[in-house]
Amino acid sequence: MTSAANAAQLAPFGQMSVKQIQHGLRTKEFSAVDVARATLARIPEADEQVHAFLETTEQLALDAAARIDDAVAEGRMNEMGPLVGVPIAFKDNMNLTGTRTTCSSKMLENYVSPYTATCVERTLRAGGIPIGKLNMDEFAFGSSTETSAFGPTRNPWDLGRVPGGSSGGSAAAVAAGLVPITLGSDTGGSIRQPASFCGVVGIKPTYGVVSRYGVVAFGSSLDQVGPFARSVEDAAITMNAIAGRDELDCTSQEVTVDFTANLAEDVAGMRIGIVPAFMEAEGLTPEVKAKVEEAAAKLEARGAQLVEVELPNAKAAMSAYYVLGPCEAFSNLARFDSVRYGYCDPGHKDLGAQYEASRAIGFGDEARRRIMLGSYLLSAGVYDTYYYPAQQVRTLITQDYLRAYEKVDCILTPVSPRTAFEFGEIADPTSMYLSDMFTISINIAGNGGMSMPVGLGADTGLPVGVQLIAPAFHDSNMLRVAAALEVEYGVAPVAPASASGKAGE
Ligand code: GLN
Repeated sequence: MTSAANAAQLAPFGQMSVKQIQHGLRTKEFSAVDVARATLARIPEADEQVHAFLETTEQLALDAAARIDDAVAEGRMNEMGPLVGVPIAFKDNMNLTGTRTTCSSKMLENYVSPYTATCVERTLRAGGIPIGKLNMDEFAFGSSTETSAFGPTRNPWDLGRVPGGSSGGSAAAVAAGLVPITLGSDTGGSIRQPASFCGVVGIKPTYGVVSRYGVVAFGSSLDQVGPFARSVEDAAITMNAIAGRDELDCTSQEVTVDFTANLAEDVAGMRIGIVPAFMEAEGLTPEVKAKVEEAAAKLEARGAQLVEVELPNAKAAMSAYYVLGPCEAFSNLARFDSVRYGYCDPGHKDLGAQYEASRAIGFGDEARRRIMLGSYLLSAGVYDTYYYPAQQVRTLITQDYLRAYEKVDCILTPVSPRTAFEFGEIADPTSMYLSDMFTISINIAGNGGMSMPVGLGADTGLPVGVQLIAPAFHDSNMLRVAAALEVEYGVAPVAPASASGKAGE
């Protein structure tokens, strides 16, 4: 077994695959404690510019690693679960006992998790080593991580650009090779869009596949947790660890599939849907469109059949989302009242004044915008005009997808209309909302969607992801297509500046 110092000289563990790490543990090339120490040791410098991490969890990591090393020494490594020895980090809206769970908000700056979210717990039970908590847009409202109260995360491919959001820290940590696996959450695109901007794999599973227990709620009928990784296999292995029924989330479902099972099957005979209206959408940049067409052609060349499908109501998805999302957020965020939870502005004699001041100071602009919008939309007289029709649109969009899946096994679309934008470039909230024009309808319908990196855009030279959308509870379909694309494009690389250790120069 090597010392930690030697281990640090090995290829950084954050740049290795799950299987490479597990091979090293098995052959005793390094120990789990080496993995934990070396991963943690790199973060202060390697993350200084990127700012993916809000907190690192040294003691939790070393304790978990020591338990793994004991198991390896006793010949029990195979019993440890699919993530044994793998460094993993979590979006900061996921509770983990002994850490702060801030949602990147001043409101929860000092909130210490009293319990652990099921998704986090399952990665730890599967042998993962918890490395820390990751930056995000405040309460997951946003598409750039610029709304974090603790400063933005930067895109490891270009530090002048955003990593996407709201799970920007989760995407950037993987793209920068700090950890091989992270978890994020996605209410309207918050896993897929940052995965696309940072050039990594990001999966939003079907609603109900992963428990939401212990994940701070944004839109309870839309939120879903999923993994980021550089390879499809690593993402699928993580899905195996986190998926399935949890008694603590009544919307979670029994899931028995092995997400790695069909990755080698290739796509011959699969029917892949193309949505012509999406390909002609206003705002879709030529380089992203070209990448989707290229990916489609490559899948066709491998034996898939391309089929045009219509999602006629998807154009109303954005409008429906910005009714349903704020309504749910308004209700969910009511608990941060400075008494039960959250920042308390001191010195008020009157409780109403305390609520008002604490919420005005604790919440940032975008959070306040969503709360005010939700409060208005749910008020008497207004509810029937917006909320009820939005629910009807939801049914129509769900039916569109069901009809499309009579003809295809998976749908291929852009993730985001463009590649990563510069800080401050999109100042107007409604323009920012358009980042999710291709991702939102999937949360509305509840089926699974993922972003798969397909190389760099011809015009900007920045990562582009394509979106694969599967029928509800057939998430394996999109993973199978993703694996075929990975054969074509290769496993996603670590962002070049991070890989060479030159980030920030
Ligand atoms: N960008 C979208 C929003 O701001 C989606 C966010 C998310 O998926 N959490 O609401």
